[in-house]
Amino acid sequence: MANTKDVIKGEEVTLEIQPGMNILEVNKKLAQKNMELLRKHNVKAIDIMGSIGAGKTCLIEKLVQALKQKYRIAVFKGDLTTTIDAERIRRHGVQVITINTGRECHLDANVVARAVERISLEAIDLLIIENVGNLICPAEFPLGTDKRVVVVSVTEGPYMVVKHPFTFMNADVMVINKKDLAETMKIDTKQLEKQVKEIKPDVKVAVTNALSGEGVEELIKALEL
Ligand code: MG
Ligand code: ZN
Repeated sequence: MANTKDVIKGEEVTLEIQPGMNILEVNKKLAQKNMELLRKHNVKAIDIMGSIGAGKTCLIEKLVQALKQKYRIAVFKGDLTTTIDAERIRRHGVQVITINTGRECHLDANVVARAVERISLEAIDLLIIENVGNLICPAEFPLGTDKRVVVVSVTEGPYMVVKHPFTFMNADVMVINKKDLAETMKIDTKQLEKQVKEIKPDVKVAVTNALSGEGVEELIKALEL
């Protein structure tokens, strides 16, 4: 069971916004601070974005299983109100902090900074952050991670990329998940890959089946881990 100190309530995390301050600018500055702090402690950090049901948590479980011998890992798990995902990840023996954002549909750099205060950066090498399940606004709020990953699943249809160009512009790695269902869904993963590369030419793409673990090695390579 989660210790209460492992749960952050987003509505309690207040940021003083002065008149005239642009929230996105403030977030960018705080993200820069997070990045500097993490780098100072040699902690690599990854932000994993994607809709509810894309397979983010499942992928994180597989990443943790594959990487926990090599890195000491902590996971931050953004969710509106539940700790379901946190329990799933905690089973693999890594520290998990749940960030319950309440009404907010994305994580921001401020709430991540509060979560960082609750872990020992000396005790970890890798921080994986699962953003709130939502493909739109998380992209506008960098958290201060080295890499940003967008997970889409073939069950989300053929227009995931073209309808969310801004999200993919900010991605370093795109995961196309549930590849085993591509044929049934009549989705050509090569087409999705081509579309994302038109938006972000240097994006890396991994095609996975997070349930079976297929493609997870490819993802680890794309993340340079
Ligand atoms: Mg999840
Ligand atoms: Zn949002």
